[in-house]
Amino acid sequence: MRSLLIRFGFLAALGVIAVLLVNAWVPSRHLPWRPADLSQPPGLATGMQLDQLAADRDACIAALAAVGVVAAPAPDIDGAEPFCRVRYGVRIQSGATPLTPRDLVMSCPVAAAYVVWDRQYVQPIAQGTLGSRLTGMVSYGTYSCRAKNGGRAASPSEHAVANALDIGEFLLADGRRVTVKDGWNGDDPTAEFLRHVRDGGCEVFRTVLGPDYNLAHADHLHLDMGHSDFCPHQPDPTDLLPGTAPQGYQTPPPQPSTPGAENSTSASPESI
Ligand SMILES: [Zn+2]
Repeated sequence: MRSLLIRFGFLAALGVIAVLLVNAWVPSRHLPWRPADLSQPPGLATGMQLDQLAADRDACIAALAAVGVVAAPAPDIDGAEPFCRVRYGVRIQSGATPLTPRDLVMSCPVAAAYVVWDRQYVQPIAQGTLGSRLTGMVSYGTYSCRAKNGGRAASPSEHAVANALDIGEFLLADGRRVTVKDGWNGDDPTAEFLRHVRDGGCEVFRTVLGPDYNLAHADHLHLDMGHSDFCPHQPDPTDLLPGTAPQGYQTPPPQPSTPGAENSTSASPESI
């Protein structure tokens, strides 16, 4: 019995030492029990750490403040449908690339993910591919009381709880304006920039959709912090945007039109 206790104590001591070593040497972005550090590139635990900010607005605002981002609490929203409820939302006021419009309400995980995406991907990629820093991004919306797929699906959109961000335009310091709608196709630096920022978004957000996914995203990137990881680089075969399929992809025959779906190519932020 005594030797069993000694063995147990030895193993417990080894376990404590291992945890202490992991805590000391492994970057916090890989450790789900550590708070989010928005100055770091995304790691194995970043998604979980950002999820934990969803219902802890004080921790969220503190994590943003730690990297120089000022965010203010936003009023709760109760929309026309019961699933349209925004709680613990924030508005980013300064410290990140400015969003237009400036008073966007977003969930804390989306605000935190935006800051990481902006700093780790969008700004460096703009410098690298376009040779200019960004001075702003134009959002096509965060909150919208509707179901997925422009209201046609059964489940609520992440926009119904302001847990999604649509970005349609990037404003450069040298005066250029890059739009997703006009810049996506081709292989020039603008298209390269847009595809790389989409790919960077996939490293931070849960779901990222763009023009090569379906018609509803022809003019913007949809980035959300919902429950499922979904970053398709293959088109949705039921709703394909002509001319944007990857090489070798078989374009399916045209689908019969759906009543009420005609507006899906408009500039409105229709998406998930
Ligand atoms: Zn969207």
